[in-house]
Amino acid sequence: MILKLRKIPAHLQLRRYLKPRMSFNDGELKKLQADEKGYEGECRFDELINSSPVSTYLQLNDLLLEWRNTTFQIDSLLISPYKIYLFDIKNFEGEFYIEGNRWYFSSGYEVKDPIQQLQRSESLLRPLVQSLGFNLPIEAIVIFVNPNFTLFQANRQLPIILPTQINFFIKKLGSVSMHSSGNLIDLAKKLASLHIKNSPLDGKYTPEYTYESLKKGISCLDCESLSVRLNGRDLRCERCGASEGLHPGIMRTIEEYRVLFPRRQITVSAANDWCRLDMNRLRMQKILKEHLVMVKGGKSTYYDFK
Ligand SMILES: [Zn+2]
Repeated sequence: MILKLRKIPAHLQLRRYLKPRMSFNDGELKKLQADEKGYEGECRFDELINSSPVSTYLQLNDLLLEWRNTTFQIDSLLISPYKIYLFDIKNFEGEFYIEGNRWYFSSGYEVKDPIQQLQRSESLLRPLVQSLGFNLPIEAIVIFVNPNFTLFQANRQLPIILPTQINFFIKKLGSVSMHSSGNLIDLAKKLASLHIKNSPLDGKYTPEYTYESLKKGISCLDCESLSVRLNGRDLRCERCGASEGLHPGIMRTIEEYRVLFPRRQITVSAANDWCRLDMNRLRMQKILKEHLVMVKGGKSTYYDFK
């Protein structure tokens, strides 16, 4: 039973929207790729859980919590009547090794010790759960979901699950009966309600941009270029030939505008300028009217999402 769904993180969505419209520097690109990969790994893990009997556990995904002014992030939390499982999901790919307590990529490049991060979250979650009146044991585990992950020199006692162990691990968790565990549902709901929606870290990796600095146009769903043009009643990418319906293409692009510029009004001229299809006002107006709510402002009319 899922009590908190995983959604694409806002900072990742924002950068996806920005990507075709500006150039990212090396650091920003690397960070974007790493975050995409992390998110992909988390979704892969969700799929494994949701297609197994483990889906009977109470599930909370992607939580940002706070204990005594310290925030910590949880990829996935499973609650059973006997135990709380805290999972940190890693989508590492390639060969890694451990030396002492340090983790390295095969090239010798040191990576952040995932166990340390895990223990930090665990040590903050424990008192938080206790403060809510529950005394369940917590088991914290790092799950490596990428089948192309290899780890050398790992101690067998480490709280990790390797890709080759995942299926067995999930099988072992099995299913639970959550009948008459109303209080656990309360705990899960309480934790979900404590989730911090706007992470202070969200803006940290977002490149700076202004309306003027971004390229305008509709980005292609297939090749991401801004070479999408009007083609009769449809949109067509001049670069790769992909086509998309006019309405969905425009609405998707207006949604990008809303996310990138939450304080700017959506007007017919703004939509035309942002989409750059050389479309006449009436045609754009008709589309906005059909999908959005018209708001009569003082000077101008603008549109809002329903
Ligand atoms: Zn294209």
